[in-house]
Parts: sequence; C-alpha cells; structure tokens
Amino acid sequence: MIIETIAVGFPAFPTNCYIVSSEVTRQGMIIDPGANPEVIMNTLKQLDIKALLIVITHRHVDHFGALRVVKTETGAEFAAFDTANISWRTDALLRPFLSFWLPPDRLLKDGDTIDIDELHFSVLHTPGHSPDGISLFGHGVVFTCVLRKDRIGKTDIPGGNYKQLMNSINNKLLTLPDDTVVYPDHGSQTTIGQERKNNPLIR
Ligand SMILES: [Zn+2]
Repeated sequence: MIIETIAVGFPAFPTNCYIVSSEVTRQGMIIDPGANPEVIMNTLKQLDIKALLIVITHRHVDHFGALRVVKTETGAEFAAFDTANISWRTDALLRPFLSFWLPPDRLLKDGDTIDIDELHFSVLHTPGHSPDGISLFGHGVVFTCVLRKDRIGKTDIPGGNYKQLMNSINNKLLTLPDDTVVYPDHGSQTTIGQERKNNPLIR
C-alpha cells in the first residue's frame, strides 16, 4: 500500500491530505483534499496514481477546500459520513463555504467498508471534533480526526463535543492494536500504543 502525506493549506496550521493507493493497480483514494488542488493533482501524476474516491474525515473547510477542483479533474466519487438529519445547504458548518462544497455521491455509515482493489478500510464513526467525524481503519493504519500525537481533536468549536470525542477515542480508536499507525488530520503520525501510553490528554 502507498500512503503519501501532503501538507496543504495554511503553513502555520496545515491539514494532512493523504493519498492512499494500491501498489499493484495504482488506484486509490484521496483523504481530506483541504487546499492546494494543483499540489494534490501533481502528486497523483508524479506517483502515477488514479484516484477513484475522495473521502473527508469531517466537513470542515480545511478538509474539503480543494474538493471541487480535485473531483472535477479526477472524476473520483466523493464520500462523506451520512448526516441524514442535516441539510447541506443550511448547515452552519458548510453554509459559509458552499462554493467549495459538493454533495457526496456516497454516504458512509459506521461499519461500512471502503474497497478499492485489494485495499479494504472500515469506516468508524468517531464524532467529537465534528458530529460527522469518521476514522478509516485497515491494513494496520488508521486515518482519524479525533486523535493526534500527544493531542486530541479540538472540541471548543461549533459542533465539537468533548464527551463524544473521548468516547470515540476510548471506545473506537483505543480498541485497535497498539502497533496501528495513526495518520491524524493535523500533525505527525504516531501509533495507538504510543498514544495509549504517552498522550497526556487521554490518561
Ligand atoms: Zn476539523
């Protein structure tokens, strides 16, 4: 499996955009195309990877700012968590940023699987940083927006909820094996075991 990390957006607080692909077929997905679509497109080209899917970990604009351009240029499907109760047009998190947004082609639910060739990722609903937060687990790695190296996802924002965040961490992420590599939405990668032992905010 290929995992390429691209830091996009504001240099002071970049978002990790991940390109995840099969090494065999060079087909894969883009997680969190937050900004800099030209950089994302160039990386795909350089790595000779075809993106079949774009997934966001949650609906904050720093995770979908490049969605429109990247979707148009790749023709990939767009998948996001199923927020059946919200109207995308009036939603407080999306309304200021609708010019960057597109309605998802596929709505994900907890327990769904994302399958691209030999890649299989489970969708874990992990709210707390955002009500629609998801983590993607498979092949010994997890992409997430609730756990970071020595940190946790921010909750002092609209839609954030500390109790939900700790539930997501304790009941979903910390049930994964210790050697699971954590690819957070912001900051450096870590492992579940390292955070279980050292993260001062989840002890
Ligand atoms: Zn966010």
